[in-house]
Amino acid sequence: MTARYDVVIAGAGVVGAAMALALRDLGLKIVVVAPLPPAPASPPARAAPVRPIALAAPSWEMLTAQGLIEANTGTPIETIHISWRGRFGRTVLSAREHQLPSLGQVVDALQLEQHAFRSVAPFHMAGEVEHWTSNGDPLTLAIRNDAVSNTIETRLLVLADGGGLGPLETVHDYAQVAWFGTVRTTRPHANIAYERFTDEGPLALLPFGDRYAFVWATSSARATTMPSDDEAFCAALAGTFGERLGHFHDVSMRACIPLLLKRARATDTSGVIVIGNAAQTLHPVAGQGLNLGLRDVCQLAAAISSSSTDALGSAAFVAAFGKQRRIDRAATMRTTDLFARLFASSGSLVALVGSIGLASIDALPPARAFLARRMLLGARAIP
Ligand SMILES: Cc1cc2nc3c(=O)[nH]c(=O)nc-3n(C[C@H](O)[C@H](O)[C@H](O)COP(=O)(O)OP(=O)(O)OC[C@H]3O[C@@H](n4cnc5c(N)ncnc54)[C@H](O)[C@@H]3O)c2cc1C
Repeated sequence: MTARYDVVIAGAGVVGAAMALALRDLGLKIVVVAPLPPAPASPPARAAPVRPIALAAPSWEMLTAQGLIEANTGTPIETIHISWRGRFGRTVLSAREHQLPSLGQVVDALQLEQHAFRSVAPFHMAGEVEHWTSNGDPLTLAIRNDAVSNTIETRLLVLADGGGLGPLETVHDYAQVAWFGTVRTTRPHANIAYERFTDEGPLALLPFGDRYAFVWATSSARATTMPSDDEAFCAALAGTFGERLGHFHDVSMRACIPLLLKRARATDTSGVIVIGNAAQTLHPVAGQGLNLGLRDVCQLAAAISSSSTDALGSAAFVAAFGKQRRIDRAATMRTTDLFARLFASSGSLVALVGSIGLASIDALPPARAFLARRMLLGARAIP
């Protein structure tokens, strides 16, 4: 007989795992369909580069409460220094000014993802959702695990697969890549994060343990000429950042990925809800992608817990969720896209507007408070 569920979650990344954990006490029949991670290489390859993630306070609290992050494993950001290389105008956001313990916490995405996967073991079905058919209620899903195919049914399918299943359309190609890893600097970080905009793309330095983690966007063209030698890489990084932190040294292994703004083509058809990176993938500037995905999780969990089981996946349920999430998703997408494009522009008028914008934010405490709240809370910061 075909197994039947109330909710099937496709994907056990951080968003899929957080979704499953948010539903675990609701008395629903749920399953998380996700492929097993690849077996570790033998002999082990060099350690994978740290991919830093800055979690806003609400995301941090949620993941800690769910047990996905252990207390004291993150590095708090107490101050964010935002500037534009070679232009006037800069602003500083401080946790103390906004009576907050911190503006966020920095953790390693890879470790978080491994922990997320392990935490869904009680609900896990190994495999990948291949496709689904809807001939009314319920949906029928085809699951493939290696060469074996299987069929299950569900009232609601939550796609948290990062964008493989419901294909994403590319809205903008930034013609940039993001380099990430860790590096040491002569001066200690003192829990200060830097977001430094340059004509090529933003460079974020995030306090991470006793080091800095970096996410450095450069033009795609430069990706091929970036030095592989550690010392030369540090020199290039210092050349972009400047001398404020002293000498850069001891860079870790690093990797780079292309940067695209993508959005799900047709979100939220009947019986199917798309969350996290499966709904959109953003430029990493301002560190909003996972925070936005976790706000999807919070609102979907609240909607599911206040719905009758029979109504899960109904057209009305799916449409109501889409409506609830529209403003936050659109505003976050627009803000990160604006930051990524405005500051990478070499036009003098745009440069002037950007510089004046940064200087004005710095001069106006309410504007600084709004920016801090916007980064922490998403659309809830909009009065
Ligand atoms: C360099 C960089 C820096 C970033 N910095 C930040 C930051 O500071 N703050 C922030 O909030 N965000 C940041 N982000 C964004 C953040 O990493 C992503 O938004 C987040 O990891 C998305 O999580 P997810 O669970 O939605 O998707 P994913 O992590 O992509 O997980 C999807 C999962 O689904 C599984 N899957 C795929 N296909 C199927 C299928 N058919 N069936 C079942 N399972 C499937 C995959 O195996 C995977 O485990 C950054 C991103 C980058 C690249």
